[in-house]
Amino acid sequence: MTTNTTISSNFIENIINEDLKNNKNNKRVHTRFPPEPNGYLHIGHAKSICLNFGIARDYKGLCNLRFDDTNPSKEEVEYVESIQEDVKWLGFDWDDRMFYASDYFEQLYECAVQLIQSEKAYVCDLNPQEMREYRGTLTEPGKNSPYRSRSVAENLELFAGMRAGKFADGSRVLRAKIDMASPNVNMRDPILYRIMRAEHHRTGNTWCIYPMYDFAHPISDALEGITHSICTLEFEDHRPLYDWLISSLEMENRPQQIEFARLNVTNLVMSKRKLRMLVEEGLVDGWDDPRMPTISGLRRRGYTPEAIRDFCERIGVAKSNSTVDIAMLEHCIREDLNSKALRAMAVLRPLKVIITNYPEGQVEQLETENNPEQPDLGNRCIPFSREIYIEQDDFMEIPIKKFFRLAPGQEVRLKNAYFIKCEEVIKDPNTGEVIELRCTYDPETKSGTGTATRKVKGTLHWVSAAQAVKAEVRLFDYLLKEEDTEQEEKDFKDAINPNSMEKLTACMLEPSLLQATPDQRYQFIRNGYFCLDTKDSTTELPVFNRIVGLRDSWAKAQKA
Ligand code: ATP
Ligand code: MG
Repeated sequence: MTTNTTISSNFIENIINEDLKNNKNNKRVHTRFPPEPNGYLHIGHAKSICLNFGIARDYKGLCNLRFDDTNPSKEEVEYVESIQEDVKWLGFDWDDRMFYASDYFEQLYECAVQLIQSEKAYVCDLNPQEMREYRGTLTEPGKNSPYRSRSVAENLELFAGMRAGKFADGSRVLRAKIDMASPNVNMRDPILYRIMRAEHHRTGNTWCIYPMYDFAHPISDALEGITHSICTLEFEDHRPLYDWLISSLEMENRPQQIEFARLNVTNLVMSKRKLRMLVEEGLVDGWDDPRMPTISGLRRRGYTPEAIRDFCERIGVAKSNSTVDIAMLEHCIREDLNSKALRAMAVLRPLKVIITNYPEGQVEQLETENNPEQPDLGNRCIPFSREIYIEQDDFMEIPIKKFFRLAPGQEVRLKNAYFIKCEEVIKDPNTGEVIELRCTYDPETKSGTGTATRKVKGTLHWVSAAQAVKAEVRLFDYLLKEEDTEQEEKDFKDAINPNSMEKLTACMLEPSLLQATPDQRYQFIRNGYFCLDTKDSTTELPVFNRIVGLRDSWAKAQKA
């Protein structure tokens, strides 16, 4: 295995190394992962999780899990639970450091009062329309609000009134008093608090004012003693505000915000809003649909945490946005599964084959290895008998050139068994469809012990009919037809691939797969990697998801 175990140094680690050298933060390294519980986590979040928890691990520091729940909404509890499950599944642990921004609502309020007292915040009554007009544009400075010169006493009284519910939703806000002429629009007296009568999943109806993210985030970081506050690039222009708040409030801890490029992957939707739309409109079977780029979807599909961590490691951390080829993610799961997955025979589109010279009623148990790469995964026996299934497309009545599989008069090897030769083709008299093949086998060609010396070019997988386990197998294509995933919301639906899932409902599997568990991944020989679906499998009809096919376009491109 070529999994990268050494940690490649990135620009964030360079910053931390420098800070450690300079004794900054008393040599502490403390990061956090701050999801907003408004959806399930996706592979982009996995990158942030691996980065933040990975830094804590590598520097023997700490990483907090903090729910950024400053925006009240109803369904948050489900999301809070799924986020914890996903972080744990990825292999990370926050110990006893799970926090909510809402834990700090009282302290955040005190911070706002402190800003008012030091004349760094004021209550503003401009309506949203006026607020926009006063803000200016990227090329023109803004204008001071007429409420900017309110006295400290008046501001304190109005802000207390806001908290006490004396004013209507949206009628007033608390703003920082910074600089309406700043070239950075984020510094033009940004809003710190708004009035909003909404029930919060943790604080209920205690509050009718809620802090803005840009206000709550730096303070939460400082309160938790975070040293390095790692976020994505779109927050770069917010950093001056982050720093202004920390220094205006004279916070004891002075976390440093560091921005990195968010992960984009070809053919994958990475916006929670679009993912939620897919779920709400029933275009997928929930957040954990195996086609979703959510961590729960990848888990149900059969991805391993090891493969996702490996992927996040390999893509590295950069300062400018780029898009990663999905083939690289698929390469990581293939590489992980190649050594872990048990080999098995499964025929997805069965064609019956009768071996006419094989004794009726006889069953041989043929021994074979579970994983040729890992002898310690042991052996198993596969039954062989007179009636078997092969794949429909392993037979051609009129073979094209270089078709080395089965055709009239042509001989192939059945993996781990015998050579068979096609003698007769049976068709449905009405449709002309091939429904059965009559073949003969040569006992001298038995795998391992046979004495025949001739060679054949094709080797087919097969399943003995009498012992076969009937199953459903689901094959997936990308949810988006286009590689480009940045479509506007209105175009987004057109980009959805209508054929992203194919259900094959009459597959025939070797009997060992009756013991399959969702934690065990399989390589169905010649068909790809599969695992049992946790949601839809029943004892009558097991359902297997194809995690990924066998052809590795990424590895191929690397060699070329
Ligand atoms: P979305 O844009 O999908 O709604 P978000 O950024 O609003 O995502 P949050 O819950 O706020 O989602 O994200 C939690 C953390 O994960 C943040 O620190 C954010 O920067 C990071 N993150 C989100 N998406 C990505 C991504 N695609 N790549 C890397 N990090 C990401
Ligand atoms: Mg966000």
